[in-house]
Amino acid sequence: MDGDAQTALPAVKYKRVLLKISGEALMGTQGFGLHPPTVARIAQEVKTVHDLGVEICMVIGGGNIFRGLQGSAQGMERTTADYMGMLATVMNALAMQAALEQLDIHTRVISAIPMDQVCEPYIRRRAVRHLEKKRVCIFAAGTGNPYFTTDTAATLRANEMACQAIFKGTKVDGVYDKDPKKFEDAKRYDTVSYDEALAKRLGVMDASAIALARDNALPIIVFSLDEPGGFRGILAGQGTYTIVK
Ligand code: UDP
Repeated sequence: MDGDAQTALPAVKYKRVLLKISGEALMGTQGFGLHPPTVARIAQEVKTVHDLGVEICMVIGGGNIFRGLQGSAQGMERTTADYMGMLATVMNALAMQAALEQLDIHTRVISAIPMDQVCEPYIRRRAVRHLEKKRVCIFAAGTGNPYFTTDTAATLRANEMACQAIFKGTKVDGVYDKDPKKFEDAKRYDTVSYDEALAKRLGVMDASAIALARDNALPIIVFSLDEPGGFRGILAGQGTYTIVK
């Protein structure tokens, strides 16, 4: 049975959100691939938000396994390399599905590239129904097209699913004017406009993703996924983050 006990829970700011994380977030300190304890930790963060009754979409990148641009820089044909990158995101999505299911959360992996033996194909109405039933929808294989990134896939799916915000989980608690890990005087923005993020190349997401969010007035919340309880805290109106709107 899907859990739906919403009594006595804090009021949430958003009822349906999309969490975007990079593939690298799943590799822990290994430098490559998947680190199951790290995947389990992130799944636990997702569970705390699911417990609030929030409907959750996820998009996970593939950079911990393969990035198209890296392949093409080494002489591989770009579109083939991009398809390999998209397949990498499916592996990450399956790892996250397994970790969420260990926590008794119902999930669906939904791929932009049909692979019926492994996961569901993307059918918008069906995905919406999963969300209404409180299943976490993990969208895999990016947009299904080469020359895109999973940031753009996240923005596209967030729009299609009528999410109220994209949560971009990173290693730092927001968007800074310079790298806070290198510069002590780096300043964090509370709020940034889409155009400022684009003009100053603030590294929130890639430019096409930010433009797509701007054109559909979809807020992007950049927060630290390394902060335990951070994701849930923001939904309950606490914590530090940057909102791009
Ligand atoms: N990719 C693609 N089309 C998409 C999404 C992703 O071709 O719609 C490929 C692209 O090669 C990319 C790789 O998949 O480098 C992994 O995605 P991304 O770089 O966005 O992963 P992240 O940096 O978030 O881990």
